Amino acid sequence: MKVIALTCPQCGGSQDVSDNQHLLECRYCRTILRVERSANGELERLLIEARLENAELTVENRRLKITNAIHRLDAAWAAHRPELLVPGKKGPREPSNVLAFGAMLVGLATAAIGVNFLLTLGPDGFVGIAFIGMGVIIAGFGLGERGAANRYKDSKIKYDRRRRELSDELANVEAVFGERSGYEDTTMRKKRLDNVAYPAADA
Ligand SMILES: [Zn+2]
Repeated sequence: MKVIALTCPQCGGSQDVSDNQHLLECRYCRTILRVERSANGELERLLIEARLENAELTVENRRLKITNAIHRLDAAWAAHRPELLVPGKKGPREPSNVLAFGAMLVGLATAAIGVNFLLTLGPDGFVGIAFIGMGVIIAGFGLGERGAANRYKDSKIKYDRRRRELSDELANVEAVFGERSGYEDTTMRKKRLDNVAYPAADA
């Protein structure tokens, strides 16, 4: 039996769906979901079959949706971040703008020393060419480091901004929750629903 992970369209939670399932209840938000198949029978996606029109659930679904979005965002950043690192002495490290500007300064100064050799020593100043070459390499490293540092910073700012937006949204929803009297959190409600004694069929 094949099992694949599909996303609940209501709350964004991941569901393990086996290929013999047609309807299921989202394990997070309890929305009833229908499994849509492609022409060749492959499981494609989940559609909402029935929604519990309950205000409390709606608010909680929003909370779940945001929580799941935060988890997805964190996972995406954790996966993307290593691509933005640069090789360092003790393994990959964050690129540094301070190091970049330092290298550019040292590179320029080294090249300037080389130019000075050429100008003051005349024919004996050929050693200046080595200095200029070294200066260009060091400054080039600095430029590369600067580019990497800017790419890292841009991505980090985007991630931080989106994370803050989602956190604010979550705080907002939780504030709404807090005002609701008799609110049960997910674990509490699940416990209660799990313990509901349904009447026997012949009762
Ligand atoms: Zn769901």
